Formats: sequence, C-alpha cells, structure tokens
Amino acid sequence: MIRCLKLLLDTYPFSKKPTGSEIPVLSNRISKYPVDITAAELAQEIVKGKTFVPVTLTEVGEKKRAQLNWKSQEIICLDFDNEKSIPDPDNPKKKIKVKDIKMTLAAALEEFKDTAMFIYTSFSHKPDHPKFRVVFALEKVCYSSNDIISTYNYFESKYPYIDTNCSEVARMFYGGKELFELNYSNRIPIVIASSINKSKNNGGGLCDFDSIRVLSNEYNSHQNPPSKVIINSNTQLNIQQDNMLEYIKSKNIDRLHTILNPNAVDFYTYSETVEHIKSQDLRLFLGINAPTFRCIFHDDNSPSASIFKSDKSNDILYCCNSSNCKFGTGNVIKCVEWLLKCNRLQALRFLRQVYKIGFHQTEWQKEQIEFLDENIRYVQSEEFSYSQPIQYKLIKNYIGDLVNFWSIAKDYLPPEHYSSEQSEVLFYASIGHFNKVYGKNKSVKRLGDRLSLFTYLKYIKKLKESEIPDRMLKESKKYIIKNKALNNQDSYNLIQHYVAYPLTQDVLVDAEDKALEYRNSEFTMKAWSWETIARTLNEEEANRVFPQMGGKKTKIREKSHKMTTEIEIVGMKLISENGWTTEKEILENVDLTIITSKTGKERQMKKIIFEFMQKYGLIKFQLNKKLSAELGIPPTVTENGVGYPRIIYKK
Ligand SMILES: [Zn+2]
Repeated sequence: MIRCLKLLLDTYPFSKKPTGSEIPVLSNRISKYPVDITAAELAQEIVKGKTFVPVTLTEVGEKKRAQLNWKSQEIICLDFDNEKSIPDPDNPKKKIKVKDIKMTLAAALEEFKDTAMFIYTSFSHKPDHPKFRVVFALEKVCYSSNDIISTYNYFESKYPYIDTNCSEVARMFYGGKELFELNYSNRIPIVIASSINKSKNNGGGLCDFDSIRVLSNEYNSHQNPPSKVIINSNTQLNIQQDNMLEYIKSKNIDRLHTILNPNAVDFYTYSETVEHIKSQDLRLFLGINAPTFRCIFHDDNSPSASIFKSDKSNDILYCCNSSNCKFGTGNVIKCVEWLLKCNRLQALRFLRQVYKIGFHQTEWQKEQIEFLDENIRYVQSEEFSYSQPIQYKLIKNYIGDLVNFWSIAKDYLPPEHYSSEQSEVLFYASIGHFNKVYGKNKSVKRLGDRLSLFTYLKYIKKLKESEIPDRMLKESKKYIIKNKALNNQDSYNLIQHYVAYPLTQDVLVDAEDKALEYRNSEFTMKAWSWETIARTLNEEEANRVFPQMGGKKTKIREKSHKMTTEIEIVGMKLISENGWTTEKEILENVDLTIITSKTGKERQMKKIIFEFMQKYGLIKFQLNKKLSAELGIPPTVTENGVGYPRIIYKK
C-alpha cells in the first residue's frame, strides 16, 4: 500500500519565484488547502510550480498557518541554495548573499539516494549555481514540533550551510522546475528531542535551543558517520516508544498533551466517555509505528504484538499473540491498567486527563443511579425471594440479565430528564450493545426475549416511537446510522428506548400479578413471542411487550394460521376418538410440510394451546394414579419408572 502524505499544497502553479504582494496572498491562502497525496503526486505538483508547507494544522482556513496551529508533520525539506552571507562591501551594516558552492546536484543525488524521496531544482537554479531542495519523508507522522526541530537540527549539524530556520516550523517552500526522483519509499527516522528542556518559559517548546545544542553535539561527536545514524532506524524508534511509555508511567500529562494534542471534550454520560477513550489512536499513545512489534507487556524476542481497529466497534485494540504473554487482547484502558498497575477506575481517570475529557454528572443523574443500585441490591437479596415468590421463581435464572439491564441504564443515563412530566430513567441502546457488553455467549434473540419478559412484568417499559421525546429520537437515529456501518445484522442494530422504574411496592405487586398470569397462561420462554401473547391474552398486551413490532406483525401470518388449523383438527380428532389426548400425541400426528422441524411444531403448539383449549372448552391437567384409574388412561412406563401424562380433556 502506498502511504499518503498529509500537508498543505497551494493550487496555483507559479512559473517563477513569487514576488511582492504575491507572497502574503499566497501565505494566507495556502492554509486553506490541506491535501493527502502520494509522494510521486507531490513531486509532480511541486515541479508544476505549486508551493507547499510540509505540515498539517489544527485549524484549517485562511491565515491559519502559524506555529500555534502546527499539528503534525511527516515531511522534511532541505534547501540547498549554495550561497553564503557576507557583509555588503558598499554598506557594511548590511549583508548580501554570494555564490558559495558546497553541494552540487550530482553530489546531492548520490548523498541522499538512500534517504530522500526526491530532489527538485528551484526557480532560480542555474547549472553554474545549483539551487535545489531535498525532500524526505519521516517513518511516521510526527506530532512533536520539538522532534521536528531536532530532526532539522541534525541535518544542520551535518550540512551547516543549508538554509534552515528552526523558528519557522510551518515554513513555506516554493515549487520548482526539474524533478529528480530518488526513491519514493525512502523514509528517515525522527530525531527525538530526548534531552528536551523542561523549562516552561520557552513559548510552548517550539524552539528549544539548549536541548538542540546538546543533541547536535551528540551527533557531532558520534564515532560512526552520521548517515549510519539515520539508517539505523530501530534505535530511534525505540527511543520514541520508550519515551511514550515513560511519559505514561511517570504520568507526565504535560508531555502527553504536547504529543497527543487532544481536543478538549465534555461528556455527560459514562458510556460516551468510555467510547471516546477507546477510539483514540493507540499507536500514537504507546509510541508505536510498526505494523507488528515487540510486545510491551512481556519479554518478547520477536514481534508478537499488533494494534488494530476492532471490526465490531470503533475500539482500537492491542493484541499480543505470544503464548508467553498474559495480556492477550485489550483496549487502551486495559493497556493503562497494565502499565500503571492500577485498577480500571484509576485508568479511566488518567485517560480522561490525558485526552482532556470532562465528565459531568448532574444531581438528577446521581439520584437515578442510586435508585438503580437499590434495585440491583434488592433483586439479589433473599428478601426478594420470599417477598415476591412467584416473580422470583419466574426470573431467578434471569436475574443476571436484569442486573445488567440496570447497569447499562446507569451508564446511559441522559444528563437530565427529557420533559418535566417525564422524570423517569429513560435511555436507549441496541440489543447488540446489550449483547456485546454483557451477553457474551447469548444469542441476540434470547437476550431480546428476556428484556421483553422484564417488560411484561413491568419492571421496565419499552417506548413506542410516538412516545419517544424528539430530541432523543434524533440522537438515537444518528446512533443507528453509526452502528450500521459496523454491523449489518438488523436485529443487532435494533434500537429500543427503555424506561427503568424503581422497584416500589406498586411495581412489585403488579409484577407478582403478571407472574401469576404467566404461570396460569402456561407461557414458556421457549415459545415467548408477540404471537403467543396476542393469542393467549390480547394484541394490546402483545404490543406493549413487543412495541418494536410497531404494528408490522399485528396480523398473524397466514402460514401460522395454517399450522394452527392443522393442530386444531388433529387435536379434536384425537379427543373425539379417545376422549383425551396429550400435546405430545398431537405433535406426533401433525404432519405438515410447513412445520418442518420438531422444535417448530413445539413452539407453534405453545403459542396456540391456550387459545385452542378455550375455543373448544378443553382443560389440561396432570394425571395421577387415582384419575388414571377413573378415566381408564394407562400410565406411561419408561426406564425411569411409571409416569402420568398431562392430558388435554374435554369437560
Ligand atoms: Zn505480550
């Protein structure tokens, strides 16, 4: 893959060096034109005469080119004008430039063949007075202007005659005439300003001469030829990585801010905060630029680790494939927990500081969280099991899901209630999200069924579209669009708006009544559906429990009608022949191509059995020894012993 370079590139092709008023106009205009192009394209544009600035800016627009707006840089350009300044013989107070050839074009082509991408001659180049620029690409995007300065300074120490000016980080380079390609894939490492002066009086550290001098001396006194230092990129890269880990471990927030340059943001829900954190550039954060690299969490001899974007969410993940590593896979929060040896809460606090995230909870939110916590404690208490025995029995296997529901509600609480009448805890989430956060091994359908059971019991309320406040509906629609890109499964993306209630005595009494109704109606979770409720109770109740059906399925499908009729005919036939039957016997005798699977038949039976019995005045009861003898129905004998069936019987 060809890497694209980000920089500013003017649109006007000059045929000679800009002069006079052309210059300020150009200078103001160029910051409106950020581009993302390949090295080869850039080279072509430059020799058309277009001006470039090898940086990206934090703010794009007219007159935005300034050191303060410097954001990142991945190109280094050296200006060889083969001139020197001498005092003007006519006016000793002034200086003039005279020809002083230090590097010919041919020498440059040889000198930079393994490091630079290309060389171009400037507008004023002449064969007897070579003037050209050498263009390099950095191995990775650099976010520290100090490091750019020290990289330039390295070159300055090696080629003292080049025209560089470290105070001008966002320097403009004019286009030129002739292109000399070297190798567009050549890359050079960033020279890290490792001995950066911590002084706070250096205006944001853009020009830190002391540290640069230290660094220059290091390079000057280096035993190896300097070109070797450039090629030996690993040394430099490791410094970069170590530095970031060092800054993280020492919680050097100032330095991390300089490098990461985060935009301050404010959030009101916990979930937004965490999502924002997890989507940050983890490579930049850890100072890593290789596709695979030596794991930072174990003693790694070969590159076992990589960083990639999860295909299911926006999360950026770190993964170590080594069997010797206990880290495995994790996002930035886990990385910080490991690096700082801290807990999750501390890691989140640290990351909120690093990424300038404000997290505000309103008084209302705090209050709602308290009552949701109380709900969670209550359903897990013994008190719940003896005070509300019927509902307890019904949901005891699903209490974990209910607790998870309330936990998610806490994370998604809006900062305020949406209207004055609506003081309820109202939030939205997709089933897929519930599944992702808590239901690891559960099917989306089963999770959805449980949420609808909680709705049936009136612990929670699902809102119909018409009941959702406008502001919230708009937000959730955006959320759907965002998620569609990540997962195409419709059931996964289905957004539901929920209200969570405090478990007051009223709520618990209602739920106990509903749990009894569930038992009397012989509902099962296996056959739990809109249709079951509609047939057994009524459509209104089915719509309350499954509002997402939105009237779309309010007509029981034709196919389902056929099955129902078939089951009824078989059932009544068996009863008229023998006086009684069982669900099992009916199922064995239903032979319909429409109902293909055994479980399909069972499910259909569960859906219609109540309605079927009411319609024909049937009752269903468990046989025992006495009734078995009275009715002359023999017990069933299996390897487990004698058993009595539940029979369906006409009164
Ligand atoms: Zn590892």
